[in-house]
Amino acid sequence: MILINGKETAANLKKEIAKKVEDRLAAGKRAPHLVAILVGNNGASMTYVANKEKACQQVGFKSSVLTYPDTITQDELIAEIQKLNNDPTVDGFIVQLPLPKHIDEQSVIESIDPSKDVDGFHSVNVGNMTLGLPCFVSATPHGIMELLKAYNIETKGKHCVILGRSNIVGRPMANLLSQKTYPGNCTVTVCHSLTPNIKDLTLQADIIIAAIGVPEFLKGDMVKEGATVIDVGITRIPADNEKGYRIVGDVAFDEVAPKCSHITPVPGGVGPMTIISLMENTLRAAEINEK
Ligand code: NAP
Repeated sequence: MILINGKETAANLKKEIAKKVEDRLAAGKRAPHLVAILVGNNGASMTYVANKEKACQQVGFKSSVLTYPDTITQDELIAEIQKLNNDPTVDGFIVQLPLPKHIDEQSVIESIDPSKDVDGFHSVNVGNMTLGLPCFVSATPHGIMELLKAYNIETKGKHCVILGRSNIVGRPMANLLSQKTYPGNCTVTVCHSLTPNIKDLTLQADIIIAAIGVPEFLKGDMVKEGATVIDVGITRIPADNEKGYRIVGDVAFDEVAPKCSHITPVPGGVGPMTIISLMENTLRAAEINEK
């Protein structure tokens, strides 16, 4: 069994990005600039944005955070986004989700210039992705594709079972892995909460991507020998430690790992790849936008 080390893979990619930033600066270009929009004071969102800022610093990007109270209206927020769309010093920006309930998230996302939508959530980027055209692929699917590449995991002709059909993980993964490219050329099955007999399907899978948010859902007897298992799930469960919680994935790791050819741990698997993918998208946005 090979443990897929997302932390190490992300650290290697981070070094590559930092080197490209140095090369840009040496060539008289500016550092890529990522802006994060944070609405309200949701603790998890504040942590995610702080982590993104830290990653920007580590690779030499400029980063800015624009914070707004949760009383901001949808129109006011969209007006702020228009300013970023028109600001030539901003290469890419993200709107940290979730937004307060009175704001329609998709309307906000649609107001982002697709060439600066480094989260890859705009319908233009999603549409281009489904057609295999150049686009920003959203960070988690992008990170999973990078992990598959980094570990040379064969995908051609393999049966991939994806647990979860969210717009940010399950469905883009299904699309990417069915494309005529590497990683891809899989036969893909997508399962969700209404799928009967999930075990019958996972037992046929060469690759399982678990993204449902149900701690340790995938048990040892649901996986065939030699499968690759990618665990996207992140759930905090109470624990008797300093933090008062621990992070658990969607896979019962101790039972599943001995049967696998490759498996990602939680934490330290997909998670670190997500932020680095945002950095890769921002670097590419800077390259595209200066042309
Ligand atoms: P989501 O939007 O809540 O979607 C969950 C999906 O799982 C839905 O399609 C749902 O089915 C399905 N589902 C829920 N319970 C199920 C069950 N018992 N059996 C089969 N399918 C079930 O979640 P998400 O945003 O994709 O996130 C999934 C997990 O990944 C969460 O733990 C999240 O924290 C984690 N995550 C991690 C990263 C990372 O960087 N590592 C990034 C994003 C998300 P229905 O569609 O029928 O409701």
